Amino acid sequence: MNKYLEQLVNLSKIDKEIDAFGPRVKEIESKLRAAVAKENDISKTILAYEEEVKDCKLKRSKNELHLAELSDKLTEISKKGAIVKTDKEIKALQLEEEISKEQCEFANEEIERLDSIIEAKDIDIEEKKEELAQIQKNTEEIRTSIESQMSEIEKERSTVYSSKEKLISEMSQKILTFYEKIRKWAGNTTVVPVKKQACYGCFMRINDKTYASVIAHDDIVTCPHCGRILYKELEEVEA
Ligand SMILES: [Zn+2]
Repeated sequence: MNKYLEQLVNLSKIDKEIDAFGPRVKEIESKLRAAVAKENDISKTILAYEEEVKDCKLKRSKNELHLAELSDKLTEISKKGAIVKTDKEIKALQLEEEISKEQCEFANEEIERLDSIIEAKDIDIEEKKEELAQIQKNTEEIRTSIESQMSEIEKERSTVYSSKEKLISEMSQKILTFYEKIRKWAGNTTVVPVKKQACYGCFMRINDKTYASVIAHDDIVTCPHCGRILYKELEEVEA
């Protein structure tokens, strides 16, 4: 193969490798992000449950306070009972006592109801905390594996960059400029193979004359349709 063409083929391969690092890093980082998001979700749920428990406990203590007041009231009523004389007074006192007892009953029921909610929520919180611990462990594992994957990528990247530097130092400025100009619009398909007499950049068939030049491999040939640099893969030439 023509030396300049070979350099161009190699350069385009290196550039393709360099471009592939970005998506690889992003994919690795997205795994960590997903794990952290899951962690945050569970933490939020735990916080919400804890708020509910707090709220129930507050309501519970209000009911207890109310019970204490009612108990004082009932003592008061029984004291009054000893001194009232008329039927009317007795009836009024009895009614008051009934109402207070009903309120006691209601407050006790409410406390019981709140206790069962608190108990159930405490179990939920325990479960969620266990789940969270598991996920945190998982996140830690992902973090560790990411660190090693990232350092692996860093190593590969520096190898690729140094081979690019070496290659560029050996190339003619004119050819490099020519390559960069096409790369601006063609990106990673600046240098493409010809297969079945078609350009693998625009997939259009190339004429016999151009095809013969491509096979000859002694000049840099561009696609007459799209302008990309063409080459014939060696194994296909031999076959
Ligand atoms: Zn083409």
